Amino acid sequence: MDKIKDRLKNVKSIINSINPNAKLVVVSKFFPEENILEVLNEGHNIFGESKAQELRDKYENLKNKKIEWHFIGSIQTNKIKYIVPICDLIHSVYREKEMKEIDKRAKENGKIQQILLEVNVSGEESKSGININSVKNLLNSSLKFENIRVVGLMTMAPLTENEEIIRSTFKKLKDLKEELKDEYKDLKELSMGMSNDFKIALEEGATIVRIGSKIFGKRNY
Ligand SMILES: *Cc1c(COP(=O)(O)O)cnc(C)c1O
Repeated sequence: MDKIKDRLKNVKSIINSINPNAKLVVVSKFFPEENILEVLNEGHNIFGESKAQELRDKYENLKNKKIEWHFIGSIQTNKIKYIVPICDLIHSVYREKEMKEIDKRAKENGKIQQILLEVNVSGEESKSGININSVKNLLNSSLKFENIRVVGLMTMAPLTENEEIIRSTFKKLKDLKEELKDEYKDLKELSMGMSNDFKIALEEGATIVRIGSKIFGKRNY
């Protein structure tokens, strides 16, 4: 059970046992292209990156492969022009000025950019994302941008070993989505769960999980 192939299989079987419809984003940030190729060889082609430059480089070098790229990292407004042409989904949007720039670049590229709003459920100072009480306002703001579509919410659990705290974080986001989904029909996705907590996230309703180290091994930052 040491190889990428085996670890990927293992992760997929856990996902299947909880929610077979959930989407797996394999987080390849800081891992080399040869690791991505191993995963592609297993028939999985959805990857997440967190840095615009790394995303661009990998995109260019793997251009001949059919890959669905997701952007999951913190957004620098001046890098949005590189992200939009490449990515199917941007998970980490939480400021109106980012929406405005994404909308502009999406228009230039003749696409409707799907995005998620990143929510700071736990309210930790160190975390990015919008306060949970402001999500509705930001959703309203998003409606004026014709070339973006908010298709769901994303969060990261607080760094803790306490499973109940992690679980309640995910549950709060799920409850919020349920509350908003009648008014915002496109709000379908819940991107939550990483290597250490994706089982809990799936149990609490995640539709997308973002998993890196459990498949590729330890990451060297
Ligand atoms: C790095 C990262 C992940 C994956 O983390 P692992 O612990 O390696 O699974 C998921 N989501 C975001 C936003 C990340 O930055």
